[in-house]
This record gives sequence, structure tokens and C-alpha cells, in this order.
Amino acid sequence: MIPFNKPPYTGNEDKYVMAAMRSPKMSGDGEFTLKCQAWFENYLACPKTLLTPSCTQALEMAAILLNIKEGDEVIMPSFTFVSTANAFVLRGAKIVFVDVRPDTMNLDEALVEAAITEKTVAIVVVHYAGISCEMDKIMEVSKRRNIFVIEDAAQGMLSTYKGRPLGSIGHMAAYSFHETKNYTSGGEGGLLIINDAQFVNRAEVIREKGTNRSQFFRGMIDKYTWVDIGSSYLPSELQAAYLYGQLERVDVINTARNDIWNTYFDGLKDLAPDFIELPFVPESCVGNAHMFYLKLPDIKVRSAVLEYLRDAKVGAVFHYVPLHSSPAGKELGRFNGVDMYTTRDSERLIRLPVWFGMTTEEVRHVIDCVRSAIRETACKKD
Ligand SMILES: *Cc1c(COP(=O)(O)O)cnc(C)c1O
Repeated sequence: MIPFNKPPYTGNEDKYVMAAMRSPKMSGDGEFTLKCQAWFENYLACPKTLLTPSCTQALEMAAILLNIKEGDEVIMPSFTFVSTANAFVLRGAKIVFVDVRPDTMNLDEALVEAAITEKTVAIVVVHYAGISCEMDKIMEVSKRRNIFVIEDAAQGMLSTYKGRPLGSIGHMAAYSFHETKNYTSGGEGGLLIINDAQFVNRAEVIREKGTNRSQFFRGMIDKYTWVDIGSSYLPSELQAAYLYGQLERVDVINTARNDIWNTYFDGLKDLAPDFIELPFVPESCVGNAHMFYLKLPDIKVRSAVLEYLRDAKVGAVFHYVPLHSSPAGKELGRFNGVDMYTTRDSERLIRLPVWFGMTTEEVRHVIDCVRSAIRETACKKD
């Protein structure tokens, strides 16, 4: 049995979690939270990062910070996780979905401008599989049309675009530390990244239930009070402690995942393009091996291949049901332009197991199973 995912663990996480448990401060913004945020601010060279209980909540904070209100429009791909849209819908936004590029499954930068109206406030890019969107073009449109860019970099930690870390390019960005991502804070967790300094002070207030408590703790004011809308967007110190153990070993995890990714690619490349399509990494991008996906000829072959792999006890999965064709998406959004690739390619994509600690033998076994599955099913499709 080869599971689809195992949460990453590198060796020191339990030591730090125990230290957090025994410290007098287990609630948010203790020693481990500050150490993690300092690590990210150094890595991203940005004015502020704030740990959150999830990437979903980091995106919600970004939507509040942009003052999204009823009737505003937000542009994003339909091929993404629900949280990308929900965070903005919760503030009253209408979602405008745009098609993806079939080579990277990222928002097609050439289609973004045509989706802009006088109601557009933000473009949310999703770096699918940890491979960057074409950010130069998107930032150029953003600047010229005066629209914010939020990077949903949930899958993008440690990837780069033209040498810049994903998450450091848009006005704000979000990482996820869910157990299925490359780095975890013990199952659930996220990070709000602020690159545009105008958002820093208000972000701290929103995260502290709408109070100026952060300034109070820094000794900048002598009592704290309710000053704005907000919620509780602080994770526990236990989450930060687990994450800190992973931050000390980012390169170990990144190298191991990339080795797995390369083994898959080398072991399957002769099947492309006749039987499958493999992931594409543009020259401007360095990936983090967040996922290894491949595309089969159509949905029928995909179902047969997934069934074969299930019987072979290989944890392969598919995603996403395009948001614009889901019940909530139909009501809360609209698709701008023609859906050339979003539906077609979402129906033929599968993801193979990639997790820290997966052995070369396990990867080879999955490759063998995929090859037999394709031999047994894809060739019989007529
Ligand atoms: C995982 C993921 C999220 C949500 O992350 P959570 O930390 O689980 O809230 C959002 N967007 C994308 C693209 C993701 O892959």
C-alpha cells in the first residue's frame, strides 16, 4: 500500500512542540511564531509575514485588507481549491473565472485583461503544483489598470520565478502548511505574506480580533482597544513549533521531493506524448516538486487508470472539479471567455503520491503500476 500523502516529519518537530507545551505561553505570537515569521521575512525579503491557522484564513485576511465589498469583482482561475474563491465571496465579491493555460494549468495571463471591468479589485493567481504563473505580464496589467494581485501560493513555498520566491511578487500572498503541502505546521496552518507595506498595521489589527493589541505588546501604546473589524487569525504556538522544525530542514525536504519528481519524470517520459502528457516547467520557473501530475487522453481512461491503481494499492487521486461548474460557483461567479482547457484538462488529470520519506523503490513501484495501468487501459480505449 502506497498512500497518496504522508505528513512531513524531519526529526526535531516533537522536541519543539514539547518545548512550546511547557512554555508559559502557548497562545499565538510566542517565541516560535516570531522565529517562523522572522525566517519567512528573511527568505522573502518582505516587510511582514503573519502565521495564520490556515491558508484559507490568510486569504480571508487579504480580502478584508483589500476592503472587498458587495459587488466587487475578483479574477481567478476556476481550476483551483474552493478557498481561493470563498475568501473573497465571504466579503461579497463576485468571482470572475478565467481559463488556464494547458501547459501549466495556471491562469492564462493573456486572458486576464479582457476579464477586467470597472468593478475589478483584484486578480488572484494560483501557482498550480508549485509552478509560477507568468508574473511579469500579470504585474504589468495590475500596475497599468490599478488592480491588486494576490498570490495563492499555497503550493508554492520554495519555488521561484525568475529567481524570486513565489509569494514575494504580488501585493500580498498566502502559503499553506496543511499536511498535504510540502511543509506543515502539524496538520493545519498558513501564512499571510505582505509585500505592500501599506497593509502591515491593519493586518496586525485584523488578526488580533480588530484590536491594537500587537502595538500594545510592543510597548507602543499603554492600553489596547477595539479599533477595526477583525477576527482570531492566530495559530497556537504548538503549530508554530512544529513548523519551526521543518524550516530548519527546508532544503532536505525540497531536495528529497525533487528527487522523487525527477524519478517519476524519467520513468514516464517515453510515454509522452502518445499516451500521457507530463508536467511542463517554463524556463523562468524553478519548482518545489509539490505534486507530480499527468494527463490521460480523456475522463474514461482516467477512471480506468484510477481504478487499476486503486486495485494495485497505489494512492493516486484527481482534482479539481472546476469551481464555475460547482453549485456554489454557478451562483457566485461567472466564467469570462471560453472554457477551452479548464474542464477538458481537469477531467483527465491524475496526481501520483509524493511525500517526504518516500523511497526510490516505492516511486519505481508506482511508475511500474502506472505503466501497466496505461498498457491495460489506455490502449484499449477504442
Ligand atoms: C491547500 C490549498 C489551499 C488551502 O489551504 P489550507 O491551509 O488548507 O486552508 C488554498 N489554495 C490552494 C491552491 C491550495 O492548494
